[in-house]
Amino acid sequence: MTSHEIRKAFLDFFVSKQHLIVPSAPMVAKNDPTLMFQNSGMAQFKDFFLGNATPPATRIADTQKCLRVSGKHNDLEEVGFDTYHHTMFEMLGNWSFGDYFKTEALHWAYELLTEVYKLPKDRLYVSVFEGDKKDNVPFDQEAFDIWKSILGSDERIIYGNKKDNFWEMGDVGPCGPCSEIHIDLRPEEEIARKPGKDLVNADHPQVVEIWNVVFMQFERRADGSLDVLEDKCIDTGMGFERLCMAIQGKQSNYDTDIFQNTIQVLEEMSGLKYGANGTLSSDNYGDVAMRVVADHIRAVAFAITDGQLPSNNGAGYVIRRILRRAIRYGYSYLNFKEPFMSKLVPVLAKQFKDVFPELKQQEEFVTKVIEEEEKTFLRTLDMGLKRLDQIFENEADKKEIDGKTVFELSDTFGFPVDLTALIAREKGFKVDEAGFKAELAKQKERSRKDATKEAADWFEVNELDNPSYIGYDHQEAVTKLVQYRKV
Ligand code: ATP
Ligand code: MG
Ligand code: MG
Ligand code: MG
Repeated sequence: MTSHEIRKAFLDFFVSKQHLIVPSAPMVAKNDPTLMFQNSGMAQFKDFFLGNATPPATRIADTQKCLRVSGKHNDLEEVGFDTYHHTMFEMLGNWSFGDYFKTEALHWAYELLTEVYKLPKDRLYVSVFEGDKKDNVPFDQEAFDIWKSILGSDERIIYGNKKDNFWEMGDVGPCGPCSEIHIDLRPEEEIARKPGKDLVNADHPQVVEIWNVVFMQFERRADGSLDVLEDKCIDTGMGFERLCMAIQGKQSNYDTDIFQNTIQVLEEMSGLKYGANGTLSSDNYGDVAMRVVADHIRAVAFAITDGQLPSNNGAGYVIRRILRRAIRYGYSYLNFKEPFMSKLVPVLAKQFKDVFPELKQQEEFVTKVIEEEEKTFLRTLDMGLKRLDQIFENEADKKEIDGKTVFELSDTFGFPVDLTALIAREKGFKVDEAGFKAELAKQKERSRKDATKEAADWFEVNELDNPSYIGYDHQEAVTKLVQYRKV
């Protein structure tokens, strides 16, 4: 099955179970002060669960564009090194708002995976919540009994702890246990050596979690006690890219047709071959770079499409950081000295034109924005990298980059601190984050004084508490000034 067929089969399956299919919410969470980006399928339905709004149907399914690069869910560091965590990914989901509950949710999940997608039953493991005495939450006997009747035995059932198998929206509010489905994609001989059951939730690239089925059945009160909800809800999320890897029999998400178009273009552009030492290895930085670029271009292109331009603060800075991380990988390991990310936008626009047509509609604009960002960063990237090389040489004994230098790299060369840390890590160096923060605070103090001096009326709304990198703004302003002068 192609990825398009896999997505369609999911939605069709839940239509056959009387679900209403809704579009993905924009990836940028504009109306939620607690969230920058949609990080799960349920985020757009929060108000339904909290009882603040009425859902258009009691059964809903969709595919949601998610981005996990900030806050509680931040997978950015993993991306490119592992082969199954992305910044942006699609989460397939089905929901019941006070309609069906555990029995249907688990039966349908298993039916879809084994009968529609024909995934082998002896490769699947399921988890149930083991209970937590300290927190007064019981073992999920109900889910255990349902799985045992579906599977015919308890051999493939795993007991999960609070971290993996209990979901809560916050300290108070709806919560409940969940049940995850994991798949073992290793070759037979490896399975013979070590059973998959021992590798669940152990960061193995081929024993991965594919689906999480959450049972919202409790409401936590402020005093910590639990009430049983009258209208119980189901919230599920399945990683689309991982599902495609499993169905297409691939070793890595990047080997699926979702990423192969982009990787092929990167191969042509760089003259390098992807995966010469196998597609699971992270020893080869060329491969890591292709994965990073193939991943990050999706995140950036869709974020811009959905209204978040790269900028110097807040959500915009998150997008700029992702973009710069990719540019630096392409520059250092794929030999791209000219804008290259923007050239990938048409590949994505075409690939997703039927699912997320918004990218195709804004293709030209998105390409332009990314190209401008690339040009700006490529102007200072080389100098910044040279500066870093100097430090690696000078501080070879200390193996640490001091806060002042980290600040200088950010202020003068536009290197986000996490990018500096990433490059440092490759050389076995650490960065003095505390020193950097101190420098940043000093800079903010300076610019606060400037701001009060020059524009006292603006003082109140000045971005004092905002983690913006004012220094770089300044540098950009200078660049712009120079350009204007030339004109
Ligand atoms: P993991 O343990 O692998 O990090 P998770 O438990 O954090 O996953 P959930 O919050 O349960 O993930 O999200 C539901 C599903 O979304 C997961 O079962 C997985 O298939 C998928 N998923 C989660 N994070 C990512 C990611 N960064 N990239 C791709 N798919 C993901
Ligand atoms: Mg996770
Ligand atoms: Mg997990
Ligand atoms: Mg999970």
